[in-house]
This record gives sequence, structure tokens and C-alpha cells, in this order.
Amino acid sequence: FNMSVLIVYAQWKGWMKLLGVSIEALLFVTLFILYQNRAPITQMSQWLTLTFHTINVIFNVVGVANSSNFYQIIATNAHKKISQLPTTDYLTNVPNRTAFGTYLNLMAKQHKKRAEASGIMMIDIDHFKNINDTFGHITGDVILKEMAKTLKTYLNSEDFLGRYGGEEFVFIKHNISENDFFQLCEKIRVDIESKHFIVDQEVLHITISIGALYNSEAHHIDCHEAVKHADVLLYQAKRSGRNVVKTKTI
Ligand code: GH3
Ligand code: MG
Ligand code: MG
Repeated sequence: FNMSVLIVYAQWKGWMKLLGVSIEALLFVTLFILYQNRAPITQMSQWLTLTFHTINVIFNVVGVANSSNFYQIIATNAHKKISQLPTTDYLTNVPNRTAFGTYLNLMAKQHKKRAEASGIMMIDIDHFKNINDTFGHITGDVILKEMAKTLKTYLNSEDFLGRYGGEEFVFIKHNISENDFFQLCEKIRVDIESKHFIVDQEVLHITISIGALYNSEAHHIDCHEAVKHADVLLYQAKRSGRNVVKTKTI
């Protein structure tokens, strides 16, 4: 009968819980009344009594341990989800601007300890307003989601990809050579340019502009400065006609 608590917290429908607990309660009370003053029908031997008693104890302990573990997993997962909410972009599921700020501060601290070659990309969709104006904001949202999905495929464990704001993403690569970094930027640009975005049976094409700053091992600037530089490069990419990568090494 003490297992009825498990039924109460199970993910069953209300009426199923009520039925389950009622059956258990009814059985418990009936058997209790029926047998409380009677001698057992069969007298069990002492070792059999001990065996049943042991099984009973084991079942109870295992039952309680199992349910504690079950609820601990639920609580841990819920906590993980809630703690990620303020730092994850609701639309694209990549880290948001808040997370980027935290990441930059962490990087700034680490860079003081050990300098490493890194590259930062500011990626912005070209004429995205036209997509919204022509096909609607829902379509625009789908494109943003697809865009994040594509960028994620270029992500390594130590890289950072985040939504900087609107239709702008930031991508940071670590421990990469200058050549590899600029090649990667171009690869991403071409990948997006040649991609068919299918929304409501409509095939759409977009292009992106990238401001790409490479920070060599020898010369290390503050991460926040690097973002500003990459932003200027992005602006230059837009001014030079869009769908290009503007690069700079410092
Ligand atoms: P440019 O090539 O100069 O970058 O032009 P643009 O039209 O992409 O840039 P602009 O800054 O003029 O417009 C950005 C647009 O992005 C405007 C805004 O409505 C849209 N946008 C920003 N966030 C979202 C979003 O979450 N969903 C959708 N659908 N649109 C968004
Ligand atoms: Mg844009
Ligand atoms: Mg923009």
C-alpha cells in the first residue's frame, strides 16, 4: 500500500491515479479486516517467513531508491534547462548576447595567462529586411534558424557561436592558422550563398557579409577590441557591395 505514493506522483491521467490508489486502498482495508483476528491458513515455516520479510524490505528500499533517483533526474534536468534560458537565444537555440558577454570576459582573463591565435567573424545576412517584407517574419525566423543550424556544422568544441543580435551572428575560432581561418570564412560565405532555403514550398536564397579579424599569437589585443575591429570590417564588407568577406590580421 505504501507504493500508492508512487502512483500519486506517476505521470498518469488523474482518473487512472484515482482508480489505482482506490484499488490498492480497498484491497488493503479488506484484507486487513478479513485477516486481523484469524490464524494464518497455512503456518509458514520460520525460514519462509524470514524470506518474505527480507523480500519485503528489499522491495521497499529499492522502490524508494528508484523513485528518489527518478525525481532527482527530473529536478537536475529542469534546473539545467532553467539556468540555460537567460543565456540561450529562444529562436536559434545558440548562445545569446548575454552569453557572449560572459564568454568575452572569460576569454579576456584566459588571454592574460596564455596567448593563442584566434579568429573572430561577425556574420550578417544581406538585405534581410527584404526577406521579412516580401515573405513575412515567420519565413524570416525560419531562415534565421536554418542559418544557425548551418553555422553550427562548422563548430568545434572550443569554438563559440552566438547570436549577436537581429540577423547577426558571431563566430570565434581558437588555435587556428591565419590561412585556415580565412579559408573557413570564405567557405561559410559560399555555403550560405549556394544553399536552398525551402520555406512553405518556396525556394529562397540569401547571402551574407562577414567581417573577419585574425588575431595572431604574437600580437594579442583585448577581446572586446577584437569585436569592435570585426564590426568595422563587417561595415566595410557591406559598403563594398555585400556577399563578401573583409579580412584583417593584427
Ligand atoms: P544589410 O544588408 O545592410 O544588413 O540590410 P538588412 O536589411 O539585413 O539590415 P537591416 O538592419 O536594415 O535589417 C535587419 C532586419 O532584421 C530588420 C529586422 O526586422 C530583422 N530581424 C531582426 N531580428 C529578427 C528576428 O528575430 N526575426 C525576423 N524575422 N527578423 C528579424
Ligand atoms: Mg543584414
Ligand atoms: Mg544587421
